[in-house]
Amino acid sequence: MDYQAVLEEIEKEIKPLLNEGKVASYIPALANVDDNKFAMSIMMFDGTSYNIGDTDFKFSIQSISKLFTFTLALNYYGKKLYDRVGHEPSGDPFNSLVQLEYENGIPRNPFINAGAIVTADTLVSIYKDNTFKTILNFIKEVCNDDSININEEIFQSELEHGFRNFALINMIRSYNNIHNKIDDVIQTYFKQCSIMMNTQQLSRAVLFLANHGINPLTNEEIISSSKAKRINSVMLTCGHYDASGDFAYKVGLPGKSGVGGGIVAVVPQKMAICVYSPKLNNYGNSLVGTKALELFTTKTNLSIF
Ligand code: GLU
Repeated sequence: MDYQAVLEEIEKEIKPLLNEGKVASYIPALANVDDNKFAMSIMMFDGTSYNIGDTDFKFSIQSISKLFTFTLALNYYGKKLYDRVGHEPSGDPFNSLVQLEYENGIPRNPFINAGAIVTADTLVSIYKDNTFKTILNFIKEVCNDDSININEEIFQSELEHGFRNFALINMIRSYNNIHNKIDDVIQTYFKQCSIMMNTQQLSRAVLFLANHGINPLTNEEIISSSKAKRINSVMLTCGHYDASGDFAYKVGLPGKSGVGGGIVAVVPQKMAICVYSPKLNNYGNSLVGTKALELFTTKTNLSIF
């Protein structure tokens, strides 16, 4: 299959949609991004990559970081992690508080904000002051790229304006499901969201999830095959907040989005894909990114279904 030609067709077809949607505006640093960008990268197991658009442009990975922290936490705690955070879809928006009250502060899954904050807490319990460094080093390792770092301005903006996340962490703390200092946990969470990567780097970084937990470029086992399977299933059922069903329906791949405008998706046993376009649909997922992936599976028949 000529994947480069497929990407070129997709780029043409999504052009008219680039005016639709809205960039995330809950923090000022995200509201200021150049909103016309589009990029899409495919990474194959032999290191061949296919790219279209602004694939060198770095954006904040936001909730895509939840994939890496979930991987680290699941690797360490195994099933015990689910005592603290579930693995069911929430059907609620990414920053919702409602479920916490009637589910005793146990977030539904690690990909909504509440669940990612608890996941960050479980990591702070292991790695203490080195938690963010451990997360960043893990991402550098799976991506094989030492240059990855955070955007300090976005981090500060999250810290100053992340009122919902402060509400979430305090609420969860009231149910004793946060075991470390609120400041340490929330800073870890905001820093992981502020990591900057481009579509080439992100498609490489999630390749291990397409290959039973083994990075095919280095043959290194990142996580066991059974845990990789579980991460993929949580991506499929929870990776797009309350639009996860719609993403599964239209795209049919395990995927994870972030409000920065990125989406990663995995074609099991074949490749990893990352698409970027910062304007979001009503559910906080990249509008053009979702469409581009839908076009991709339609044109290639590579949906898992
Ligand atoms: N930093 C964002 C927040 O917590 C991440 C949300 C997202 O990407 O969905 O509000």
